[in-house]
Amino acid sequence: MKKPILSLLILVFLVINLNAQRKCAVGDASDEKLKRRHEILNTKLQDYYQKYDKQNIFVDNLIRIPVVVHIIHNNTSGKIGGEGNNNISDEQVFSQIRVLNEDYRKKISTPGFNNSPVGTDMNIEFYLADKDPDGNPTLGINRIYSSKSSFDVFDENTLLSSLSYWDSNRYLNIWVTTLKDDFLGYAEFPVGEFDGLELEEVDEAIDGVMIDHRAFGSKTGTSTNGVYTHGRTLTHEIGHWLGLIHTWGDEYCGDDFCNDTPPTESGNLSIKCTPKYSNCRGTRTLNMIENYMDYTADSCMNIFTNDQKSRVRAILEVSKRRKRLITNSEFNLPQTEKLIVKVLENPSSTDYLQFQILLNAFANFNYEIFDASGKQIIQASFEDSPSRLIQIPKIDLGKGIYNLRVKSGEEIVYNRLISQ
Ligand SMILES: [Zn+2]
Repeated sequence: MKKPILSLLILVFLVINLNAQRKCAVGDASDEKLKRRHEILNTKLQDYYQKYDKQNIFVDNLIRIPVVVHIIHNNTSGKIGGEGNNNISDEQVFSQIRVLNEDYRKKISTPGFNNSPVGTDMNIEFYLADKDPDGNPTLGINRIYSSKSSFDVFDENTLLSSLSYWDSNRYLNIWVTTLKDDFLGYAEFPVGEFDGLELEEVDEAIDGVMIDHRAFGSKTGTSTNGVYTHGRTLTHEIGHWLGLIHTWGDEYCGDDFCNDTPPTESGNLSIKCTPKYSNCRGTRTLNMIENYMDYTADSCMNIFTNDQKSRVRAILEVSKRRKRLITNSEFNLPQTEKLIVKVLENPSSTDYLQFQILLNAFANFNYEIFDASGKQIIQASFEDSPSRLIQIPKIDLGKGIYNLRVKSGEEIVYNRLISQ
């Protein structure tokens, strides 16, 4: 049946309005501060590439990122889940974590898979934190009531953090609430550290992602209607948190500093995934509307590229706060009030002598192992380290009784190690 053109136009107009347009506050090009931060970050990365051999630095290890989800809701009854309730269900949170892992691992048989030669498995996984900042078991979900019905992404991030926050050196904080002005989400960028450059590190307390509950999770709870309900807003925002820039570089035919994402005139707001083209630098090219760092509808997205991965890996090496978070996650040991050394199973029944070094903050420390005659056999130093596990192969020591000396700042702890 032939439809009147007028009603078709009205329908399209309504659909667009009902779904709103993807609005990621990071792309607000009028914000000079953000733009400057992009420039600083890229200058530093270029230095980094020159300083080190790229091949040797980027080990493709699996990175696991602990996430804490703060649900800031205005539901006085405290009821969890249900239609329109911004005190969203645990299931909605779980659906979001699942999507992150599908997208960042390019999982086969999921919407996060692609066949593109430049499409990559980022080799990054996300999990709800299993220990709170005091080391107690947790689900990684905090529910906080606030009488405020919505929050402004630019002016009220500190307020949001004051309601609930875990150390951003150890957790990726995600604040899920109702955002003002149709924004879907906002993320803070990482920074690197190089000599000779001054950097404005963002306040620890707001380092994370803010996201509207209606764009959080996949087809679950309050995230069911519209084109931004497949969980890709958070995939996109965490891309920023890891240092990625929009594919059009936040300006007309701008640069995202990745060579395998084609030049793009501007963000694509397509909700039907139809091909889009750009005419940048005198050449007509197909836009990569499927890139997570574009503005297309969730269902169009399924790709991070090899260069985006290289960029993220470089940033994770140089960004102090991100590196701390990843290292801490690797060991997942508690902070203590003072330096404590715990020798595990002494003598050990395995091929290793193992001891935990528990610190009260990220700190420098060294350990030395001496034989019975007082001769130093092994020593190692660590900088800006969280509490960590040390494993010494018995074969490196031989049988005997050894003295272990651990020093961090002014604190020194001695222990005896038995190697049998
Ligand atoms: Zn964005």
